[in-house]
Amino acid sequence: MVDLHSHILPGVDDGARDLSESVNMAKKAVEQGIHTIVATPHHLNNRYENPKQTIIERVIELNQALQEEKIDLNVLPGQETRIYGEMVEGYEKGEILPIDNTQYVLVEFSSGHVPRYTEKLFYDLQTKGLIPVIVHPERNQEIIERPEILYQLVEKGALTQVTAASICGDFGKKIKSFSLQLIDANLTHFIASDAHNTINRTFKMREAYDIIKTKYGTEMVYLFRENAELVIEGSHVYKEVPERIKKKRFFNIF
Ligand code: FE
Repeated sequence: MVDLHSHILPGVDDGARDLSESVNMAKKAVEQGIHTIVATPHHLNNRYENPKQTIIERVIELNQALQEEKIDLNVLPGQETRIYGEMVEGYEKGEILPIDNTQYVLVEFSSGHVPRYTEKLFYDLQTKGLIPVIVHPERNQEIIERPEILYQLVEKGALTQVTAASICGDFGKKIKSFSLQLIDANLTHFIASDAHNTINRTFKMREAYDIIKTKYGTEMVYLFRENAELVIEGSHVYKEVPERIKKKRFFNIF
């Protein structure tokens, strides 16, 4: 399988600290049945700076190291880009790196918030031929409280990626339940690991797909897996018509 979101590159962000951790993550990925993984370091924030060219160079080095270790995992370059007002300019300046230089770009919101300019920015990205993929919407407090925000963005062409561990309940029952609601409402298109290490933020892809298989059947698993393959081919992905989520009262009660 293909994993579209990981922090497997050594020493660039809060993922693998060094090459030996990257190698351990690679071994775990292969155990999970992953053959291709996109390295998606955080682009810019207070602590890190990972522009396009640096990531591409680091990915070449990691692939060489994995070959030497005889680990059968292909690493592709990508980036988890924290949304910012000048993203289009960043793309034009060659700082933003879509997944393996396809049209698909991972976009992260801060965990509590969706900026008001998002819809306009996504429109501008799309006119440049890019397709924004919102990462882990199920962990965003504003989206949990007002899923209509996500519906509007998906309706206008954005895609979304739910984190495997969220489906497994690792981030709590509320986030698990919301993840499943997103699947029910056709508001997500990909499952990815967002793995940071092999201990507390590991892959959980197989486990998540097992849950999806039990709840929705093998066809749904196939659809998500196929979509991840289509992204790295730069092809169009499968999309069902998105539906609105009715906010459950459940979310108000803590
Ligand atoms: Fe991430």
